[in-house]
Amino acid sequence: MRRMVLKLSGEALASSASDETIDASTVHFLATEIASAMSEGDLELAVVVGGGNIWRGAKGELAGMNRASSDLMGMLGTVINSLALQDAIESHGRATRVMSALEMDQIAEPYIRRRAVRHLEKGRVVIFAAGMGNPYFTTDTPAAQRAAEIEADIVLKGTHGGVDGVYDCDPRQFPGATRYERISFDDVIAKNLRVMDMTAITFCKDNDLALRVFDVMAPGNLGRALRGDAVGTLVD
Ligand code: UDP
Repeated sequence: MRRMVLKLSGEALASSASDETIDASTVHFLATEIASAMSEGDLELAVVVGGGNIWRGAKGELAGMNRASSDLMGMLGTVINSLALQDAIESHGRATRVMSALEMDQIAEPYIRRRAVRHLEKGRVVIFAAGMGNPYFTTDTPAAQRAAEIEADIVLKGTHGGVDGVYDCDPRQFPGATRYERISFDDVIAKNLRVMDMTAITFCKDNDLALRVFDVMAPGNLGRALRGDAVGTLVD
């Protein structure tokens, strides 16, 4: 049984096709991809969703807000996204549990590691909401930290917006950019490549946790990444 953590940015739930913060057809697409990959069996999946489509702590700080308060708003954004994803995945008949790092009994279970592992063993998709519950982090770090905690085999970072892995420079600015099929954490750090937050990168490195960066919006790609196919870039 392979156990994986999928990190989705909040913006992956939005779409340029609509003005909605959460685009129903995009969420439905992601849920379909998750449910069909899970139906192949042999797989335990936890998802960490960001909140950047709703709020980012750094944005409030720039506007003069207290950073910790602003980060709490960001964490609440991740809860909203988690509930949207839960609803969509369950509409495909796949059981899910949202586990929150912040207590909110009527909305989600509290995060308890042993309970999360039990849900995974029962085939439920576990959605980790509210990041780590601490300000001054983005959801990249909890994706890595929860993965280590539940002893996942790999972190899958699903990208959107057409960038399908790790490049030597930004492919949206430089058409000649080259995608790495595999790169070390040391090289990502030395070249300052924008893969995930550096805190998450160094956490993965220190804890021997592999990371695959791939385009989650390409149909079938999530299934391939979950099967261990060489999509996108492997960082290890
Ligand atoms: N956040 C936080 N602690 C965490 C995770 C998230 O304070 O452990 C806050 C932070 O303000 C962050 C926001 O939640 O900007 C939304 O998460 P993120 O920026 O990672 O969203 P994404 O870019 O993945 O959509």
